[in-house]
Amino acid sequence: MPGKVTLVGAGPGDPGLLTLKGKAALENADVVLYDRLADKRIVELVPERCERIYVGKRSGEHTVGQDDINRMLLEHALNGKNVVRLKGGDSFVFGRGGEELELLCKNNIDFEIIPGVTSAVAVPEYAGIPVTHRGASSSVHIATAHTKQGKNPDIDFKKYAGIGGTLVFLMGASLLGFIVNGLMDAGMDKYTPCAVIERGTTPMQKKTLGTLCDIEKKAGKPESPAVIVIGGVCELSEKFDWYSRLPLRGKTIAVTRHEEHSSGLSGMLRELGADVIECPCIHIESLIDRKTALRIKRELPKYDIVVFTSANGVKTVMEGLYSIGCDARAFGESKIAVIGGATSLAFKKYGINADIMPEKYSGKALGRALAKAAKRGGRVLLLRAESSNKDLDSVLDQSGIDHSEIKVYKTVSECELNITELINRKKIDYVTFTSGSTVRGFMQFHEYAELSLFKAVCIGDVTATEAKKYGMSCITAENSSIEAMTEAIINDIKGQTEVKNG
Ligand code: SAH
Repeated sequence: MPGKVTLVGAGPGDPGLLTLKGKAALENADVVLYDRLADKRIVELVPERCERIYVGKRSGEHTVGQDDINRMLLEHALNGKNVVRLKGGDSFVFGRGGEELELLCKNNIDFEIIPGVTSAVAVPEYAGIPVTHRGASSSVHIATAHTKQGKNPDIDFKKYAGIGGTLVFLMGASLLGFIVNGLMDAGMDKYTPCAVIERGTTPMQKKTLGTLCDIEKKAGKPESPAVIVIGGVCELSEKFDWYSRLPLRGKTIAVTRHEEHSSGLSGMLRELGADVIECPCIHIESLIDRKTALRIKRELPKYDIVVFTSANGVKTVMEGLYSIGCDARAFGESKIAVIGGATSLAFKKYGINADIMPEKYSGKALGRALAKAAKRGGRVLLLRAESSNKDLDSVLDQSGIDHSEIKVYKTVSECELNITELINRKKIDYVTFTSGSTVRGFMQFHEYAELSLFKAVCIGDVTATEAKKYGMSCITAENSSIEAMTEAIINDIKGQTEVKNG
């Protein structure tokens, strides 16, 4: 049985603009053919087992010709594959989606079209420009300025000059002068407001506002992809531009921990406008083999309180218990203590509410909370990383509480992406550290980075102490959470602006 082809619009850049239906199609695909304009993070949604084929074009040179793409879609479908054709924006807005369907129709292949958010509307929106607006424009016209290489396009400027509504030109970055001059020559008012928006909906978005007669000079040489908007609605841009007002706009932040999903630190920073570079410096390795899992199961009932000092510990232990056919019931009557919110949240995923959590996230505070909770003669089991901070142990020792430890995981330094060069070219404003081990992992691979050129954003005092040892200039979150880290960056930026403004 032949498979099916699904055209999926990836949206203009911001991966959050992919539709839910588009995401589901990617997750179910066997083969994905994708373009240059589809964001990397969208392509990453494609499961490992799925074949990914890049068919984009680079600077005018066609990597794969249109006929070849059409043929590839057909062949994979004939082989019974579930094929997704992922395209920037919407497939039918200057996306050649229709052309790709022709051959499929001829061969009776099933297909589906999942609309995408088109750059023609979304990019102006991210620049605060509504393409229609009561009183300013009651129609919008999307045109292409694209043509065969070397030739100027055949645009009926007379028609466009008298059209009255908003004009949106796609594929016109290199033809800005040709377009504005053509419109003015055809009689359009030279003071008609214009905007050029490059790399819209991404942290690199650049907006230039002007009028027909000065936009070319102001925009310089716009870089592709860019949208050109012409019409009175461009005047609303200053008022409605929400995107450039985001607190972290213009800042580049490196995140040194692994992010499993976008709800983590990276996602939060991106939502506030930052350009985030993920460069994980550590990964977690479980120390729980079958023997250790059985030992944990045997030991648990002997303890009154079982303590976890990180979400990683929770995950490793639960996975270890599952691997020997056990589940949360292995904790029996023991109380569960956690160091802070993230660890508590990790437990909730397994249907467990932690019993003890200190007000402040720190080993000492957890020790005090345990000392209070442990009954006379009570026993405490610590399930934690191989080289854990010993603040907790000293408080327990001082309080005379009997405690033992099982090491459940270790952190191993790694370097998926080395950012030394970016740092030394002053391209990174902040580097975030969520544990002492991320600092050590970072330093192991970035020994030649000029540490004075960025600020280290530390989750807590212990991490900051580690960062300072290497001479980093630190800002520290008020309480140990990713929300507080984000807030610390925002406050730091505010502080700098205030200093600048005197
Ligand atoms: N099907 C796409 C358009 C493809 S044509 C859509 O619906 O958006 C490619 C053109 O789209 C580019 O030359 C540029 O004009 C525009 N474009 C796409 N993504 C853009 C972005 N992030 N910022 C600015 N323009 C973009």
